[in-house]
Amino acid sequence: MAIFSIRVFGDPVLRQRAAEIEEIDAKIVRLSEEMIETMYAAPGVGLAAPQVGIERRIFVYDVGEGPMTVINPEIVESRGEWEYEEGCLSVPDLHWLIVRPKEVHLVGHDLQGNEISIEGDELLGRVFQHELDHLDGILLLERLEKDQRKQAMRVLRARAFSNSPESSLHA
Ligand code: ZN
Repeated sequence: MAIFSIRVFGDPVLRQRAAEIEEIDAKIVRLSEEMIETMYAAPGVGLAAPQVGIERRIFVYDVGEGPMTVINPEIVESRGEWEYEEGCLSVPDLHWLIVRPKEVHLVGHDLQGNEISIEGDELLGRVFQHELDHLDGILLLERLEKDQRKQAMRVLRARAFSNSPESSLHA
């Protein structure tokens, strides 16, 4: 099974809104399997299709209870506030304390086409929000406070012009 290379900040595919999946066929099943392999290899707790260059609304995650796939996800309700240190495989080696809703209600479909409805609290809720952002072309940089963001952009710009081992590690 193939492992995808993960697209990083600066790649325009990360800025696109991904398209709905109309039919769950063998290609989508295979995509899901390869995304799960890629997520484990990274390693990460979640991965959205645009991060592997595919503009489709599908993400995979594993917060310790085995791999899951969600197709055409939607957050229909969110509650509370929770501050958590968040990073992104597409913005490697950087993380920030970010406040987002603590709990979200996610709906979507599984690989068999069944409707799913999951209450995600704390880490799970954070993963859902993070992956859904990817499907909407939003990077976590846009969730930062103004000052945090300025500093992040400085680091990323410096990285783009250097050939340090750190920046090539995730290429
Ligand atoms: Zn991410």
